[in-house]
Amino acid sequence: MASLADKFGRQISYLRISVIDRCNLNCFYCMPVASGCRRIMGDELNLDEIIRIVRAAAVCGISKIRLTGGEPLLRPDLVRIVKNISAIPGITDISLTTNGLLLPKLARPLAVAGLNRVNISLDSLQSEVFRRITRGGELEDAIAGLQAAYEAGLTPVKINAVLLKGINDGEVADFARLTLERDIHVRFIEFMPISGDSHNWKKHYQPIDTAIKLCAQVAPLIEADSPANGGPARYFRLKGGKGKLGFISPLSRHFCSQCNRLRVTAQGKLRACLFSQEEIDLRPLLGQEVEVIRAFSQALTAKPDPTRLDSDPLVRCQPNSFGMVSIGG
Ligand code: SAM
Ligand code: SF4
Repeated sequence: MASLADKFGRQISYLRISVIDRCNLNCFYCMPVASGCRRIMGDELNLDEIIRIVRAAAVCGISKIRLTGGEPLLRPDLVRIVKNISAIPGITDISLTTNGLLLPKLARPLAVAGLNRVNISLDSLQSEVFRRITRGGELEDAIAGLQAAYEAGLTPVKINAVLLKGINDGEVADFARLTLERDIHVRFIEFMPISGDSHNWKKHYQPIDTAIKLCAQVAPLIEADSPANGGPARYFRLKGGKGKLGFISPLSRHFCSQCNRLRVTAQGKLRACLFSQEEIDLRPLLGQEVEVIRAFSQALTAKPDPTRLDSDPLVRCQPNSFGMVSIGG
């Protein structure tokens, strides 16, 4: 089996595929504008196209697939997508990033189909704050999704919380305490100005070190190993805690030198880097696997030099007019 490595020695083993760019929430940091943001671009990759892409990726040595969106649970054929991916030789790990709202119905069928784990985005443990961030979502629906994931064995369940100054930074300790009793991973992520909303970014961006200090006030932090699937977070445990705390700092301390991933957008555009607009349209190539494989190699050349990224986040993030919802996080 081939392997994908770029000229900076980064070995690519992980592909994030956005399966949809619509969502049933409307998080202000993700969607560019307040109204009408439950975007319907449509024209998403179909099941067959997704499977062709994953087969080619597997030939290139990619073993881990993460499905994302938009909200991937809105795809009526998501269980079939997972089932088909899990049958592809070489794919050893399938995970999902979701807001969790539809997990009470879908967690078990997805687990049976071959899904290994979920990351659930949950930015507040307070109903009012959750509603404000998601522009109308209900916290209890997300909590029910979390419970369903846990019960379906989609573990370790990871909670992703975007750290937002003046909105949820007062809840960092509450999030950290969730890891005391359960083997849950809570990961704090820096807010990136991807949607081009520099006003909100300047107002609410908080470097991740703030969250580390707040967690350390709950109990001493003990360094922990990264989970086997790797990833960009630095992990700790609270002393005596069962779960883990992860800190993801794409801006204040970027992890580009360890980046092991490529991304495919919902319309089948292959992207080498979250901070770059360069993309290759895979759709016209899907008839010939060898062409798709070539595109993966070509994409690697677009992965930027990790030492030369712009230090200004507003420049580095090159605002995307569709926001993170179109790239998949
Ligand atoms: N709807 C799913 C969810 O929310 O988990 C999957 C798609 S969402 C785009 C994927 C991840 O991107 C989420 O964890 C979300 O918090 C994160 N995200 C979106 N916009 C972001 C931003 N501006 N900065 C940092 N993370 C962001
Ligand atoms: Fe939807 Fe996820 Fe973006 Fe929130 S972060 S709007 S749940 S895609």
